[in-house]
Amino acid sequence: NGNDELLFEESRNLMDSALEVFKAKKKWMNLALKHDRIPFATQRPLDPRTREKGTTAVDFDALTFTIGLVGGNEMAQYHSGYQLHENPEAIKVLIRLILEMQKYKKELESRSGYKIALARTPAESTAQRFAIADLITDRYRGNAEKLVKGDVGQAKFLLANRKKDVPVYYSNGTHVDVGAKMGLFDRMNIEQKFFPLLNGGNMLHIWLGDANPDPEALYKLTKKITTQSNIGYYAYTKDLTVCSNCGKVTSPMRDQCPNCNSDSIEWWSRVTGYYQAVSGWNKGKRQELVNRYRTDM
Ligand SMILES: [Zn+2]
Repeated sequence: NGNDELLFEESRNLMDSALEVFKAKKKWMNLALKHDRIPFATQRPLDPRTREKGTTAVDFDALTFTIGLVGGNEMAQYHSGYQLHENPEAIKVLIRLILEMQKYKKELESRSGYKIALARTPAESTAQRFAIADLITDRYRGNAEKLVKGDVGQAKFLLANRKKDVPVYYSNGTHVDVGAKMGLFDRMNIEQKFFPLLNGGNMLHIWLGDANPDPEALYKLTKKITTQSNIGYYAYTKDLTVCSNCGKVTSPMRDQCPNCNSDSIEWWSRVTGYYQAVSGWNKGKRQELVNRYRTDM
């Protein structure tokens, strides 16, 4: 808490552990390859001109091992006392940590010979699992209760009753808390800082509040994102209600179909990367969906 050197040291320890995982994975992949147990990836398609077999479909020596980042916002909150949207100090802490991790990543690469990427991974289950793991670990519980997002009271009650799927989560990657009540441009201004620092996977989410956003406003926003920011990947998300009775798709999420009044409906939204039926999400992600601060256009 507040001690930068300790924070950086801990991140290096975690990256060392990740390297051990990569080594174990590589060992198993080599074993599987040796015994010809990965036929799809090792097939050698014919060259259409020479009719001879080409190289294997996947080059196993050129694979990149990815270290994913989740809960950057909560790390900054614990370390600096502020969330990313509350104070620039929090942003600075997260930027410095990532720069240190990138430096150590290079060191690990030259030591191991592996190609490693530091990225924002979807972490659809990890964001919840890490939050639960911290809540049920004596050493972390006290701090975790103050930091994890979602319904902590309800989660504690469910965990005490031996339930495993509970409505808590850590913020995705380097994202601002989804529930932070701030304008889209202010949030973009924070989140864009992390795109050049990561080796991929990062994404800006625009949670739309309107059922029918103004096309002109969307065009202007898209132009601004693509020409005046560091954001490399972005997605608009409109929550949908799909009626199982008449098939009509409407927005936003409703309890009844506005067309036929049926309550046999299914909600669809973007979990982290793709649209999925909300009924398949874990409780952490569902709570995040409720907490999302949406933008009106
Ligand atoms: Zn209907």
